[in-house]
Amino acid sequence: MVEFEDFESYCMGTNIIQRIYSTNAKEIAILVENELKRLESLMSFYINSSDVGRLNLEAGQAQVLLSKETFEVIKKSKGYSELCNGAFDITIAPLVKLWGIFSKSQRVPSKNEIENILSLTNYKDIILNIEENSAKLSKVGQKIDLGAIAKGYAADRIIDIYKKNDVQAGFINIGGNVLTLGNKPDGSPWLIGIQNPFKIRGEFIGVVKISDETVVTSGDYVRYFEEDKIRYHHILDPRTGYPANSGIISATIIGKSSMESDALSTAIFILGLKKGMQLVNKINDAEAIFITFEKKIFVSDGAKEKFTFLDKSNEFEYIDETFL
Ligand code: AMP
Ligand code: MG
Repeated sequence: MVEFEDFESYCMGTNIIQRIYSTNAKEIAILVENELKRLESLMSFYINSSDVGRLNLEAGQAQVLLSKETFEVIKKSKGYSELCNGAFDITIAPLVKLWGIFSKSQRVPSKNEIENILSLTNYKDIILNIEENSAKLSKVGQKIDLGAIAKGYAADRIIDIYKKNDVQAGFINIGGNVLTLGNKPDGSPWLIGIQNPFKIRGEFIGVVKISDETVVTSGDYVRYFEEDKIRYHHILDPRTGYPANSGIISATIIGKSSMESDALSTAIFILGLKKGMQLVNKINDAEAIFITFEKKIFVSDGAKEKFTFLDKSNEFEYIDETFL
């Protein structure tokens, strides 16, 4: 049986873990690291020369030619926004900046500031030209941020690389976006832990069994700051301009496409249990695990056979209800 090797690296502002079952594992891991760097140079919000950087700089002014890939991710993003009534919206970027959640200047903005900036968030203001792969943001000051979807897109591309290089089995974990290839070589499915949102990394409330599938989690514990004992996290509700407050602290999608699952996990985190579950039930190849603020765990019907509740902390409650 082919042995595996694990590789760790850092890209797209997050940790990358690869497990590759192949005799050429090292070479393939390097190919993957280079591919991630390439995608980052196209889609990073922080690189002025990236597609995203150029589009943002020209907001309210010019149509910008984009790489086919970035164009595709933006086009899909608009589609996901429509699907979830705008809960997922990549034009959230000016608000993310206002809250400063990724910077040293994180703070709670005033109501006024939020109201002024909120009108810049509207995915309908992304004007696409399909013939020339170009886009324009309608208003001066508008910006996009692919932080809620680009890691998923990247994971899908990496699995393509594994397949092209005859990797027998493996997975890539891009900051919590896990995508698996095949089964484990012994024929058993992969087991992916679902993080306990209240504990340090690596403590789980359960595991998901998957093969050739992806598991993507959006959580309020991933990035946040605290002020007056209130947690201000990184997933913002485009309806209010404040961190989403739907009672969910962790939302996981199990699916086929890591890009779609990434967008959907962010969306259902914002929509909350009821609307989020309704959305998931409408979509083929998407199942969900919700953890509420009250430490209750709800899963979609199709996720029941994949999810095993294993809570060492004894603090969580698994609710075995059907949501239709
Ligand atoms: P994720 O961890 O995939 O849920 O993505 C969260 C990241 O996406 C945040 O760190 C922001 O950069 C960005 N973001 C925050 N709120 C939204 C939103 N409502 N729609 C799209 N992207 C968002
Ligand atoms: Mg996401």
